[in-house]
Amino acid sequence: MGNCFGLRADRRRCNNEHLANSLYCADHAHLDTISKEENGSGGNGKKPGILKFLGKRRTPPRDDVNYALPDEFRQASTAQLIERLETDPEDMNRWHCALVLRMRRDPAAVEPLWQALNKDVSRWVRQQCAVALGKIGTFESIPSLVEASWHDPDPGVRQASVISLGNLGFDEAADHLMGPLKQDRNAFVRWDSAQALGNIGTSNAVGPLSEVQETDISPQVKKAAEEALRQLKRRGLWQ
Ligand SMILES: [Zn+2]
Repeated sequence: MGNCFGLRADRRRCNNEHLANSLYCADHAHLDTISKEENGSGGNGKKPGILKFLGKRRTPPRDDVNYALPDEFRQASTAQLIERLETDPEDMNRWHCALVLRMRRDPAAVEPLWQALNKDVSRWVRQQCAVALGKIGTFESIPSLVEASWHDPDPGVRQASVISLGNLGFDEAADHLMGPLKQDRNAFVRWDSAQALGNIGTSNAVGPLSEVQETDISPQVKKAAEEALRQLKRRGLWQ
């Protein structure tokens, strides 16, 4: 068993255990339904571990990681990479593990990447975990990225998290982006949140984006909100 994949009202991870046949507790069972709605089937008894519970998944474009990876990471199994991400004392080694997990896009890494995103001491490792969770593309990547975009002390990690949420494009992430859009003290995070909302494209972003376009102290953020609103208009989400 393990922790539920839901979030509490403060955007921290739910600390209930998940139910035996789901990644969610009884309080968050509605998320299980939303997660499964697109692929219909959901649970598949033949898949091991977390994989049998994962729901809908997006596949963002492949990224060109133009980088000579040391063999010890390239040739390691996913299980070995996960163990090393959790235990290796060297920041650079854990960063490599997260990078290779990002390139493999193995959904088995969602839980360990969330844990590393939440607690790794290196902001570079946490940032790589946020990108990896976006690339893996499961619905269950959303809560980890929301938690980091609200609470990570490093603006680069919060930025990577909101960008990943925008690339994933799940409507369910939109409400969680309003906080970083309106309240983050770092203008780049607000700027990327506006872009992410434009990418996701839900009509409930119109109000908050209009407000930011009027009131943000940064001209660049105002401009990003204006562009996101144009994107929503092109998709016919408002007049
Ligand atoms: Zn829960």
